[in-house]
Amino acid sequence: MMHSIKTSGIVLKGTNFGEADKILTIFTERLGKVKVLARGVRKIKSHLAGALEPFILSNLLLHEGKTFYSISGAEIVESFSTIHDDIEKIARVFFLGELIDNFISSEEKSTDIFELFLSTLRSLENNSKDILLLTFQLKIIEAAGYKPVLFDCVHCKQKIEPGNNFWDNLEGGIICQKCQNKFHHGKEISDNAIKLLRFIEKNNFNEIDRLKDDQNIRLEVELILKKYIGNILEKELKSESFLKMI
Ligand SMILES: [Zn+2]
Repeated sequence: MMHSIKTSGIVLKGTNFGEADKILTIFTERLGKVKVLARGVRKIKSHLAGALEPFILSNLLLHEGKTFYSISGAEIVESFSTIHDDIEKIARVFFLGELIDNFISSEEKSTDIFELFLSTLRSLENNSKDILLLTFQLKIIEAAGYKPVLFDCVHCKQKIEPGNNFWDNLEGGIICQKCQNKFHHGKEISDNAIKLLRFIEKNNFNEIDRLKDDQNIRLEVELILKKYIGNILEKELKSESFLKMI
């Protein structure tokens, strides 16, 4: 018997398949990330096509299959039209989609990340605060098991004191001056950047949303996370599409 599931979901990407079909990667609330064969969705008459565009929140009716899920119902819940009308915003959302696609395994239930993704889309729709994109990046890294070490030196485990500290991309965390002298990897990181990373790690989305934006510190953290993510993905997943985007 075919198992059917109702869930909300957001299409992350799609590739054409056969004459009129598409294979979609959909991030769903109830099943996590799934592959769905959407039959006939490229036909002009398709009544599902609109709700299966990327980065739209839709209610879906999915059916479990051998290789892929199939789909018989899709209706739009939130279309995020402000995002879709803005090339910069859509580029950012593609980047987030790429992160989900790379960091979340198939059919691994990730309700927290789903909620976080929705909050990020909603805030991007309204005010486009860059710190929220950083938040999403840090939280998804954590969820994938790459939580950065921010309070103790990654190498010697001593408590990190304010002053000269370094970010170590390979180990994924802060290292102290002594260890930097010894191992010669790591790039200088400011106390404020460490504070911001710790703040994002500890607090929820609403609290982070209220934080006053300091562009310099944010850009410093942005660069650190970008390189850290690039490093993780290159090593673990060889995601070319991701690297092309950054
Ligand atoms: Zn150390």
